[in-house]
Amino acid sequence: MSHFIASLVIPLKGGNELDKTGFKNMKEKNRILVLNSIRNKNNHSRASIAKQTKLTPPTVSTIVKNLIEEGLVYEEDELGDSSGGRKPKILSINWERYNIVGIDVSFKAIKGILSNMNGDVLHHYEVKYTVENNDQFLEMLLHVTKHLMQKSEKTVYGIGVAMHGVVDRTKGNAVYAPNLKLTDIPIKSFLEQHFDVGVIVDNDVRCMLLNEVWFNKMEDKNIVLINLGHGVGGAIMLDGKILQGINGFAGEVGHMILEPHGQLCRCGNSGCLETLISGEAIKSSGINHGIINNEHTALDVYNLALGDNETAIAILQQIGFYIGQAIVNIFHIINPERVILTGGVSNAYHFFENNMKEVMSKSIMLNMSQLKIDTTNNKDGAARGACALVIETLFKVE
Ligand SMILES: [Zn+2]
Repeated sequence: MSHFIASLVIPLKGGNELDKTGFKNMKEKNRILVLNSIRNKNNHSRASIAKQTKLTPPTVSTIVKNLIEEGLVYEEDELGDSSGGRKPKILSINWERYNIVGIDVSFKAIKGILSNMNGDVLHHYEVKYTVENNDQFLEMLLHVTKHLMQKSEKTVYGIGVAMHGVVDRTKGNAVYAPNLKLTDIPIKSFLEQHFDVGVIVDNDVRCMLLNEVWFNKMEDKNIVLINLGHGVGGAIMLDGKILQGINGFAGEVGHMILEPHGQLCRCGNSGCLETLISGEAIKSSGINHGIINNEHTALDVYNLALGDNETAIAILQQIGFYIGQAIVNIFHIINPERVILTGGVSNAYHFFENNMKEVMSKSIMLNMSQLKIDTTNNKDGAARGACALVIETLFKVE
């Protein structure tokens, strides 16, 4: 391993956000300025980087020389813009330089990908699991991670883990994983004992949002993503920063209370959004109305609705009222410019859209023509977002 690669790997493991004792000095900040300048603009020359970053041309040349030696940047023979004289070389990021392992720990499976720095998936690996304690969980996580690390033909720059439930990103611990009924799982320290690379752990829905912003290049800075799945999770980006909150709860929109005398939620309160619109809620409603039994799922209700079953359609339409209420509440607190709905239940958007919009249209402050609402369903969204956790450390000054 060259000096330059080593200098990259060590800060990820010991420095910046992973360990608050580390810091990036001016040299590192300038290096990141140059990297971002190349990343954000095509057909870039050393001269235009110097102009854009306000660094001196010799400083830019030294940094670019190091980045080329490191393999992170390459020079093309194609000629860029020139006003005569010697033609400048074009610089680009080498997105193939490193691979990243991204793991999505979801309800019933641990799904991992190996990707390049551009989020292109090179390899998938998934195991279904049931575990009873932290040790069994960590062994399963190790198995998936090891498999993906071994598949890599290039240096793996780091490992990202998208974990459901409450995550302490600073420590890299899963504080509470409700679907596994486990607490205080030391994911980061465990994986770092086994692999010589840095590990970053964050909540899975925050990873889904990061995937939209980082790889899908969504330019909005104020976004709320709501994951409508087995449960209901959320993530908030405000002024370009994805919020964590003091305990890692920020964005848990599924536990806003909409029916105070409603059904008991797993969080201890009653009538949370999750009890009204989640896959589990749709399943219960389907059973209560006698159109499915306990062996079925929300997907069966959806399929019945597609086959024009009026009860199933009414159940899916009804959740639109609650999703609309939730969006109105969120809007008044953080005023996002975009709401992204994802997860299995978002596939029923065409059934609940009208009711959702009817509720939203009643709000005087919520200007519906300005609030963008999207649905997206990327099965690798959380795992790609986990890769982005790692890649953004290369481009970010903490
Ligand atoms: Zn709740």
